[in-house]
Amino acid sequence: MRYAETGVNLEVDLTRGNIERVQTNPRDTELYLGGLGTNAKILWDRVPPEVEPFSPDNLLIFSAGLLCGTPATGCNRTIVSTISPQTLLMAFSMMGGFWAPELKYAGYDKVILRGKSPELVYLWINNDKVEIRDASHLQGKGATETAELIRQELKEPKAQVAAIGLAGENRVYFASIEQGRSSASRLGIGAVMGDKGVKAIAVRGTGDINIAQPTEFLELCHEVLEYIKFRNENPIPGVMTILQGLGSPQEMQVHDEKWHTENFMWGNSRVRRRDFWTEEVKKAWTQSMENMRTRLISCYNCPMKCGATISPPGQPTYMMKCFSKLTYTMAAMSDLDFGLRIAQHATEYGVDGYSTPQVMAFAIELYENGILTDDDMPGMPSDNEGRFYWLLDRIVRREGIGDVLANGTYWAAKEIGNGAEEYAHNNIKKHEQLPLKLSMLNPVYFLMYATGEKINITQIEGQFPQAPYPKREHREAFVKDWFQVPDEKFKQYFLDWEPRGENSNPYYPTVQMCCDIVDWQEKMHYIDDALGMCAGLSSFPLKPPYHIHNYPKFISAGAGIDMDEAKLSQAAKRYRTLVRAVNIRRGLRRKDDKPPENHWKKRFPELEKELLDTYYKFKGWNNEGIPTKASLHELDLDYVSEDFIQRGILTDSEDAPSEEISAGKERE
Ligand code: SF4
Repeated sequence: MRYAETGVNLEVDLTRGNIERVQTNPRDTELYLGGLGTNAKILWDRVPPEVEPFSPDNLLIFSAGLLCGTPATGCNRTIVSTISPQTLLMAFSMMGGFWAPELKYAGYDKVILRGKSPELVYLWINNDKVEIRDASHLQGKGATETAELIRQELKEPKAQVAAIGLAGENRVYFASIEQGRSSASRLGIGAVMGDKGVKAIAVRGTGDINIAQPTEFLELCHEVLEYIKFRNENPIPGVMTILQGLGSPQEMQVHDEKWHTENFMWGNSRVRRRDFWTEEVKKAWTQSMENMRTRLISCYNCPMKCGATISPPGQPTYMMKCFSKLTYTMAAMSDLDFGLRIAQHATEYGVDGYSTPQVMAFAIELYENGILTDDDMPGMPSDNEGRFYWLLDRIVRREGIGDVLANGTYWAAKEIGNGAEEYAHNNIKKHEQLPLKLSMLNPVYFLMYATGEKINITQIEGQFPQAPYPKREHREAFVKDWFQVPDEKFKQYFLDWEPRGENSNPYYPTVQMCCDIVDWQEKMHYIDDALGMCAGLSSFPLKPPYHIHNYPKFISAGAGIDMDEAKLSQAAKRYRTLVRAVNIRRGLRRKDDKPPENHWKKRFPELEKELLDTYYKFKGWNNEGIPTKASLHELDLDYVSEDFIQRGILTDSEDAPSEEISAGKERE
């Protein structure tokens, strides 16, 4: 009997129209857990580095996390993995909502798409009845609109539908997959879905899943709920509002946007407006939000209500959460009313709410600097807001300059030339990042930006405070109930961290401490992504209900796998290394491990080199960032080192790279 997971994947060959149910190997679950872990294993085994993102041989994997569908609060993530058209590396983007538990109840852990459908189709998974259906009538429809039309057509109002909009159909490199109450947005996975000719996947499941030790499991769930209640009633003092509690930052409830609007950058991540947040702005923005926010909503089995339905007057309702509240507003140098209105179009088109505004602001900057001209932008309105609507329409349709911009700032800058590359300054590994430009190098964030393979900083950070508290007594109070730490030493790291002086950035936390901190944060995110847990209840907040001490118990009682902290850490390290290996095989090297240009004004090249050297060693990687033969052996990944040796990435005698290549081979 399989516990927590179903033990069955759905394999869909879109070229041949063939659907198979495939039993999975329980040994893989022990080694790689589920979700991201087993996705990485499948991509390693079946998608060699020669396969391009838009090749029929690329896979698009929708995976429910290992504990999705169990009563574990907040465990509802779908992990979508493929090869990204943007980075040419492995993409793994998560969505919350209701889709993953529904898939489990239908009897499957993953849906694996391969090949390409000659016509636009959608997949209808209704328990054990699975069909590929014609979607020609849905061509060009919005993502939310598509979901509704499919539910009506199937006469199944409870079907959960993940769909793409026009951007995905047109293979926009930052196209998202939208799913009613959530979306998987990063790294262009919606473009791969569109390329495969799949408009949507609708799921309805009415089955059950087995829990290994139900009484123990429910007791653990109860403890988590009690803790959530406690934390909601006792916000953490001394940190900004969005870090005080749990969940995804409560952007739909919070009206005070002083911190974001004065610290994050406006336009193409250039302009900081230090005195922006006045009483007048606050009043106007509060009114915009209250006028358009119809209600607060949660994902499956979660009390946190991080999202909201937004109904701009005269426009259909859509779902929003988190920082996308401000991304369009700030990129267009506009106001919240505009941000909430344009986001409705963007959601229907199905585009990433982080990248899209950045790409448009980049285009405006090129235009203002004469690199793009009126010939490139025929008929573009003169006002900023009008320009954003105009650009969005062209990008999702790939019309004119929109066709170039639809590839994201990195590729667009190369194609435009004439100095445009200097304006694509906010990328890591070819992908747009949060619009932040700061002063003093932060060594922890340096390592996270440089080495993170999630390629999204907000999904790497968490757990350890972002900044020291000014007074030691406050730090002492903070560490008192900090039981989530994997080791007591982290408390000391924090206690000794000062805002100024010897024990401050960039030389404190020390290099070794930075390695420990980044590794801990990263590990928790990777565990979440295998279990299907929302980062908002685990790896992202400072004092979450899920942590390294109770996770092994959840896995043992839920999935029936004998688990402890060491084994769990080793499993997370194994599939984290496998993600690295997939990318190394695709050309990722040390030269790609760097933060966005000008992210910090004050840089320290020697310290940065030492940070990277030490972290690589700490992770068991050689000087080029390639996992060594010995470290791969220790992780039961000998098949990876054999492949590396065969390809000349490692040599048999030494762990040295045989050639210099750059991340994700450049396009011809
Ligand atoms: S914490 Fe928020 S984002 Fe996470 S599952 Fe709950 S409602 Fe969804």
